[in-house]
Amino acid sequence: MSIPVEVRLGAAPHNREDAVRAAGAVLAQAGHVHPAYVDSLLQREKVANTFLGQGVAIPHGMIEDKHLVQRTGLAVLQVPAGVRWGDDAKQARLVVAIAAASDEHIAVLRRLTRLMRDEALMRRLVETSDPQDIVRALTAEDEAVATAAPALEDFPLGREVALNYPNGLHARPAGQWAQTAQRFAARVHVRCGSTVVDGKNVAALLSLGAGRGATLRLSAQGPDAEEALRALRAVIVRLGDEEARQAQLAASRQSQAQGLGSALGDWQPTARQTFTGIAASPGLVIGTLVQAEGAALEVEDRFRSAPLEAEALERALQAALAELEALSAQARAAGRTEQAGIFHAHAGLLRDAALLQAVSRGIVQGHGAAWAWRHALGERVAAQRALPDATLAARAADLQDAGERVLRQLLGLPAATLEAAWPADAILLADDLSPSVTAQIDPSRVRGFCTARGGPTAHTAILARALGLPAVVASGPDLLAAEAGTPAILDGYRGRLYVAPSATALIEARDKIALLARRQAEEARTRLLPATTTDGHTVEIAANVNRADQVERALEAGAEGVGLMRTEFLFLERDTVPDEEAQYQALRAMVEALGGRPLVVRTLDIGGDKQVPHLQLPVEDNPFLGVRGARLALRRDDLLMPQLRALYRAARHGPLQVMFPMISTVEEVHALRQRMAQVREELDAPEVAVGIMIEVPSAALLADRLAAHVDFFSIGTNDLTQYALAVDRQHPELAGMADSLHPAVLRLVERTVAGARRHGRWVGVCGGLAGEPLGAALLVGLGVHELSMSVGDLGPIKALLRRHSLAELQALAQRALDVDSADEVRALGTALRGEDTAEGAQP
Ligand code: PEP
Ligand code: MG
Repeated sequence: MSIPVEVRLGAAPHNREDAVRAAGAVLAQAGHVHPAYVDSLLQREKVANTFLGQGVAIPHGMIEDKHLVQRTGLAVLQVPAGVRWGDDAKQARLVVAIAAASDEHIAVLRRLTRLMRDEALMRRLVETSDPQDIVRALTAEDEAVATAAPALEDFPLGREVALNYPNGLHARPAGQWAQTAQRFAARVHVRCGSTVVDGKNVAALLSLGAGRGATLRLSAQGPDAEEALRALRAVIVRLGDEEARQAQLAASRQSQAQGLGSALGDWQPTARQTFTGIAASPGLVIGTLVQAEGAALEVEDRFRSAPLEAEALERALQAALAELEALSAQARAAGRTEQAGIFHAHAGLLRDAALLQAVSRGIVQGHGAAWAWRHALGERVAAQRALPDATLAARAADLQDAGERVLRQLLGLPAATLEAAWPADAILLADDLSPSVTAQIDPSRVRGFCTARGGPTAHTAILARALGLPAVVASGPDLLAAEAGTPAILDGYRGRLYVAPSATALIEARDKIALLARRQAEEARTRLLPATTTDGHTVEIAANVNRADQVERALEAGAEGVGLMRTEFLFLERDTVPDEEAQYQALRAMVEALGGRPLVVRTLDIGGDKQVPHLQLPVEDNPFLGVRGARLALRRDDLLMPQLRALYRAARHGPLQVMFPMISTVEEVHALRQRMAQVREELDAPEVAVGIMIEVPSAALLADRLAAHVDFFSIGTNDLTQYALAVDRQHPELAGMADSLHPAVLRLVERTVAGARRHGRWVGVCGGLAGEPLGAALLVGLGVHELSMSVGDLGPIKALLRRHSLAELQALAQRALDVDSADEVRALGTALRGEDTAEGAQP
């Protein structure tokens, strides 16, 4: 299956972050990802280097953010002048951003690694002015590029292993395989299908394209061949458990993040037949199946004379265009802008010069206009359907649809209309429902659609979403054999159609539909309401936002302020240190965008994983335990003082609170407050509240001492987790252990809240745990006052908190403090979800 590829030629991003943002924006525009996925791409860059080699970088999101991927696809930024990816030696010229819903992208990685061996081709792709060159190179099935690689063979000594990784072999485990193999003197080969590669080479391993369930043959030759095989096999199997755990985590986040769809949990209705396709438009309905497609139009080849046929063609075209323009105007007048746009686009398709030329050629060769049109249209539709870019291929249905309108005119037939005989609860089945038919659907008679073909970006799917009807696409050709008149359940959240469900399944479906309706009303209604629990306790909900231009979207999504502005982004997105004025302008813009709502600005947190090359800081052996955050600020007045001046100046324009990162001692707070006092006096500026991040265990344990000297705390659960559990948050093998739900981390949160309470200080959380449903519930239960999170998490978290009482959350949190592991804490979350789906959950 080929993957849709969006290409942007001649890009000139200023830096790596710019490039990642641009590529992420393309993915979002193309409907591959939720816009919040851009943050996930940036987060990945912080924790890993996505530079693959040979001028190729492959930004991709964090595994736990997979729920933000709407469908698999790639966005390629061609950067002819190159953009620095980490250090000078790493210049990315093709930035291939990946949105991978499951393991289809493995095939792309495989092709990419093969392409990289062909230097001339890589040069061509960096220089080409035809985006299709890049699309073809990444998606074409031909294996020509592979010939550059020397063919390898299995060694006689070997063993087989099945790859049970849910997402197939991707870069992280491949790196560990290679590392393991490199420990041995023996040569190690890995076979998948007919391809054999060097097991010590990550790119070569990725080029295997090994998907879930693949059988691999490991073979080795050399003095320690037997040990090498044993070790490699052990690491493959061991990582399988970790991969499965990660995938399970991602799936549980996805089901929670589906918001409403999460209420379905793992419900499996029993039915005579179940079709699984791609969820194209959300919703759950019960209805009666209807085959929506009419028979193909019969066309005879009747030729009179070329001028008469040409005239007939012209008349038919004009009539079809007029029909489309009228439909477009009607839709616009009714406020259905998507429909209007689609009919307008159809008119454009009919003006396609190549199509008209082909028809004219047919007429000149002695064919009737209708026949010539049908023939030329058929060829164009087939060519479109075969395009490697699935988004473009999905447009085949549009072309067919618009073309049939002309054909009906030529044959003197009325425009296609829907069957009046359809039941009032129709679930339409079709091969690939035409946009015209979709657009005419009366939502009061049609409950949803399911198609054999199509994709989630086809216009049918777009219209389904606009009409608010659930739709499942790409369910396979057997769908068309389903009998009309049969009852069915259509699940547009999870992409399933249950044909002839059991009586129990129907009862369950009705209950689920009622619950979903209540939930939907609740989320819409509560998004802008405060997160007040059922017993009247209100938690402040803020967003983690770094730029003023992102504030509006955050407020619209329900943010009540900004709980974390990471100012290091001002340093990371440029090649020089921003001066006081530049920082002041950025901060002032932020204050103004918030219009009086709270803003917490964190001072520079450089060091650890956040390296700024232009600061030329000394390389440290253990950067996470080194000169980072406040420690750097206190050693570099040239960085701290201009930032404090900018902060105090910006504070004149509206509320602003300052927060220091990476505090581990009380002395640091004294020293920083002294610097603040000095700047404030110099500027004769107003007081600003001062807080600190609690992200080092010593700070959590000393919270009662620290609280005497600051106005608030914000807990950075990302770092607090890594320091509490002694797990590097970007360690390729251990990162999975860095689980913020660990009871050890929760106990530090409890201690922090208790310390703050002694001095009447408020406590927020701005680490990732605040945006996880179970995490947020526990944090509130532990007494946290404010949660600050990614924009995409705001709505679901607010709704979740509003469904529970503080007393319930407190009880849950107490239970979570008293277990052995993060898994046990997560198991308590099932109780939370169960409660969520219970009948008693009234809006
Ligand atoms: C954290 O550590 O949780 C945090 C919010 O800070 P950052 O992720 O920027 O280190
Ligand atoms: Mg941190």
